[in-house]
Amino acid sequence: MSTDTITTVAGAFVDGREHANAGDPLPITNPGIGEVFAEVPGGTPDDVDTAVGAAARALQEWSALAVSKRGEILGAAARHVESHLDELVPVLTREQGKTLRDSRIELTKAVDTLMHYVGLSKTLRGAHTPGLDPGVDGIVLRRPLGVVGAIVPWNFPTTLLCNKLAPALVAGNTVVAKPAGTTPLTTLRFAQLLAEGGLPAGVFNVVTGSGSVTGTALVRHPVVRKIAFTGSTPVGEQIMALAAPGMKRVTLELGGSDPMIICDDADLDAAASAASMGRFYNCGQACLAIKRVYVFDSVADEVIEQITAKAKRLKVGRGDVKGSQMGPLHTAAQRDEVAGQVQRTLDAGGTLLAGGGPPDDADLDSGFFYAPTVVADAPHDVPMATEEVFGPALPIWRVADLDEAIARANASPFGLGSSVWTRDLARARHAAERIEAGYTWINSRTKVYDELPFGGWKSSGYGKEHGIEAFDYYTETKSVVFGA
Ligand code: NDP
Repeated sequence: MSTDTITTVAGAFVDGREHANAGDPLPITNPGIGEVFAEVPGGTPDDVDTAVGAAARALQEWSALAVSKRGEILGAAARHVESHLDELVPVLTREQGKTLRDSRIELTKAVDTLMHYVGLSKTLRGAHTPGLDPGVDGIVLRRPLGVVGAIVPWNFPTTLLCNKLAPALVAGNTVVAKPAGTTPLTTLRFAQLLAEGGLPAGVFNVVTGSGSVTGTALVRHPVVRKIAFTGSTPVGEQIMALAAPGMKRVTLELGGSDPMIICDDADLDAAASAASMGRFYNCGQACLAIKRVYVFDSVADEVIEQITAKAKRLKVGRGDVKGSQMGPLHTAAQRDEVAGQVQRTLDAGGTLLAGGGPPDDADLDSGFFYAPTVVADAPHDVPMATEEVFGPALPIWRVADLDEAIARANASPFGLGSSVWTRDLARARHAAERIEAGYTWINSRTKVYDELPFGGWKSSGYGKEHGIEAFDYYTETKSVVFGA
């Protein structure tokens, strides 16, 4: 592609308008064809400072509004975004790679999450404790934290943003977001649309750029009171350490390696469908995804056959081509990492049943594609078991019984999601109580609900997003005692 067809974007949205970042340009690549189509200057620490300043100035007025008024303003702005989904969907597909259908699902969910917290803004209640002592009672006040930094990865740029933005804004905070350096365009337009829809200037700001420069500057900024981060475990650990001075609050939604347990009494057709959807959706690039299957030996052949057939049937193609069911990986590096994890697992003794390389389609050669892959019967210490596989490759192991499956499931540093398939309620409960993870789905596909709190155990994170509980992570409480 010639450089005159590359679009240059200002790179930041600050105080209700575009702001030109001063850093070096970052290329934005279409993963379906491997070509750069835009450049976005990265944010410098000064650009971050400008955005944080705008958020700090907007804080007083925004936090002083009635909660329901904040909800009303956010709701109108969200509806304005919703009326522009047709414009946003192809932008997300072009920079992220996912299919147009999945971009629409993602963006619709992002708006739904905003509206969920708009709804909660009308129902928030507090605590009053009478009779602490004779004539003495207490109340618990809740106050916003202040300026919140939201750092978001590239796999779901808008839903992962709105999981933070919605409770933060309704609770009265203002926000500076940093999207991944490779997916800034949808987020910038999203911010612009929220402003057009009536969100006051400075309440939500975006500074794009690399994690090492822009992200670090946001985490270090002394005015920022909290960092809400979604991304990899190593970066989450760095952020937790960087946030320690001044006791900055953090919420860390990190990596996962979700186990799926299929018992011998399960609805095997439904379980195989859930495994295929849970692993190959978004080209396997999801934190909550089925990343390890443990199936009872007596039904393993049937389950493995069904999952393998589904993987082979999936139509892999460019996100913007009608009929594609699975798009490319987001970057060449991401594809190569998954290919390496699969290869090392095969070298250690796993059996390849589907995929294992690029799809057999010359039209896809220039994009970052990898065919849906199934590997069975590997040893238990292979990379596909011990590391997070962030791509369309599913390992399956046979187990003797539920207790072996639970032990295998828990033999991981991660504890994000998990699922169990059985018709036996006692087995389901036994597993749900013992699996070390923030979510367990029983006979249900791995879908995140705004109504339920979600957050990882162990190396998968710290703190909760979603649910009314999310407000706890964007507010400070104060106990006030009234004497006689
Ligand atoms: P990274 O941790 O590399 O990046 C995530 C975000 O953090 C990006 O915006 C990145 O910027 C930024 N960043 C990178 N380094 C720093 C730093 N030192 N200081 C501040 N910010 C930084 O994650 P990936 O991009 O690899 O994202 C995939 C990961 O996200 C997977 O491990 C996945 O499991 C996890 N994830 C977790 C979810 C959850 O809810 N638990 C949901 C979805 C994904 P840039 O990219 O520009 O460098």
